[in-house]
Amino acid sequence: MITRSPALLQRPDREARPLALAAPWQTQLSRAIRDPHELCRRLGLDDAWLPGAEAGHGLFEVRVPEAYLARIRPGDPHDPLLRQVLPLAAEAASASGFVDDPLAEADHAPAPGLIHKYRGRVLLIASPACAVNCRYCFRRHFPYEDNSPSRAQWQQSLGYLREDASIREAILSGGDPLAASDRRLAWLVERLEAIPHLKRLRIHTRLPVVIPDRIDGALLDWLAATRLQRVMVLHINHPGEIDDAVVAACERLKQIGVTLLNQSVLLRGVNDDVGTLAALSERLFEAGVLPYYLHVLDPVAGAAHFDVPDNEARELVAGLREMLPGFLMPRLVREIPGEASKTPL
Ligand SMILES: *Cc1c(COP(=O)(O)O)cnc(C)c1O
Ligand code: SF4
Repeated sequence: MITRSPALLQRPDREARPLALAAPWQTQLSRAIRDPHELCRRLGLDDAWLPGAEAGHGLFEVRVPEAYLARIRPGDPHDPLLRQVLPLAAEAASASGFVDDPLAEADHAPAPGLIHKYRGRVLLIASPACAVNCRYCFRRHFPYEDNSPSRAQWQQSLGYLREDASIREAILSGGDPLAASDRRLAWLVERLEAIPHLKRLRIHTRLPVVIPDRIDGALLDWLAATRLQRVMVLHINHPGEIDDAVVAACERLKQIGVTLLNQSVLLRGVNDDVGTLAALSERLFEAGVLPYYLHVLDPVAGAAHFDVPDNEARELVAGLREMLPGFLMPRLVREIPGEASKTPL
């Protein structure tokens, strides 16, 4: 399956991995579990969880690849990884202040698939799809059909970037930008790097965590070839998400000089305690990744049960500061529509 850069891709545990995980990332992605019954059955969950899982699935479909499933403890409905992907009846409950477009992104789209909110950097929706559907996601109601541009529409976004010399950084986002093909991504990056005032390429992705095989030779080829400085912001919420395959994927990225950062979301029942957050920072650093942001939950409809109040979030972070060196401290932030940056709490 892998034909290039063999030295970068050697992985001693390869033989020991289950067959389902030995497929190329595209196959792993297309074979992800999309049926709430199958998810519950595979994890040996009691039937009592099924009606809730079906109700939540009706609002935002289930999606869990095998490589992520393998890190979930079977038979434990409260597993912190499972909680991120298992739909619950609570998603159907309405909560005041929790809305469909909490970040009012529709107001900041000057071209299709392009969001320009902050000075000097622009966000490009490079793929509408994700490898995993996270139940707390602020994009769970995002109108992706309107934001999945064709190449012709990309030209419009590229034109916008070319016109505005204050833009230093292009951020590939989604969905998950790495759900797009390497051909498409290489095409886009080639055009971005032709814009002289662009210095940096940033990629916001959860794919190297969810399907570590996404970091394959084809991806490393275009990512190594660009003149742009490269930053990858991973999205990991719990230390249990970082298995050996994730560490190896990070290693491959570091070998081509990519700066690795991580953002997390503070989630009730997943990482809302000092011990877990400290272990996450430690584990990230072992994988060569620095903590960047710890976001409080965006108030998206269907995710209120994940919310941790601000005062509790501040206390957690104060406790964390007593346990970690400063460089392992994520910045606690909230995104407030209309503000010029993320807002520190
Ligand atoms: C979060 C975000 C960014 C990046 O913000 P940084 O503080 O630079 O990480 C850029 N554009 C949009 C629209 C964002 O939501
Ligand atoms: S955009 Fe990120 S957080 Fe949302 S579902 Fe996709 S991977 Fe999960």
